[in-house]
Amino acid sequence: MGAADHASNAPVPRIVFLGPPGAGKGTQAGRLAGECGIVRISTGDMLRDNIAKGTPLGQKAAPYIDRGDLVPDDLLIGMVGERVRQKDCEAGFILDGFPRTLRQAEGLEGMEGGDSGGLLVINVEVPREELLRRLSGRRWCPTCQSTYHVYTNPPREPGICDRDGTRLIQREDDKESAVAHRLAEYDERTRPLIEYFRGRSRFHTVNGHRPVETVFAELSGIVGARA
Ligand code: ADP
Ligand code: AMP
Repeated sequence: MGAADHASNAPVPRIVFLGPPGAGKGTQAGRLAGECGIVRISTGDMLRDNIAKGTPLGQKAAPYIDRGDLVPDDLLIGMVGERVRQKDCEAGFILDGFPRTLRQAEGLEGMEGGDSGGLLVINVEVPREELLRRLSGRRWCPTCQSTYHVYTNPPREPGICDRDGTRLIQREDDKESAVAHRLAEYDERTRPLIEYFRGRSRFHTVNGHRPVETVFAELSGIVGARA
């Protein structure tokens, strides 16, 4: 499916990825955005970018992120609300990592293209032990934000980004103490969104505990079938 396919009377794809940290949301959302010719909006990447640039938003968000806490709703709702009004979202978007609380879901409802009745929500499920393996092995490029895994998705040269040669790092919040807290935050504050969206949006649960290509093939089918 290419961008041109959406130019006619096909519905504009507005997709939300739900799932715990490490489920593969970023990996799949990035590929799907490329295939559909729409933008991927990763709130984690946006926040890390603000931190790297030292913006006021980044300075407020940094301590929450490092501890594995969720950043306050108002900051996220303001940031995403502004992002979805931009021109490149007119053809559709994939939200990766937002909403993560009921208040954020309600905030999304009032945003450009955020009407829950028009959303396709994809809930990615992965067993807890596998999430822990994925998060402990995740490595990240601070320049282009590409994600790798030391075993399942290694770069060509160990520790070096394939795209720009930057030395890969482990995110502070992928270290053990923050991971436990992030998973608990997911259970308490984000998991309830499954029921919220199931009743309002086109909703699919996908088994994310399979090879990247297999999961992607299923997602392509779901998104393609919608057009
Ligand atoms: P999320 O965005 O949901 O936190 P990521 O897409 O960053 O998750 O994936 C978490 C880690 O797991 C990364 O290191 C990624 O390379 C790896 N990964 C993603 N999908 C799979 C998969 N299907 N099988 C094995 N490893 C995966
Ligand atoms: P991610 O890259 O999606 O794993 O997000 C990394 C961190 O950014 C999270 O653990 C939170 O601290 C913060 N974050 C990202 N998205 C949100 C959100 N929608 N609400 C609150 N905090 C968020």
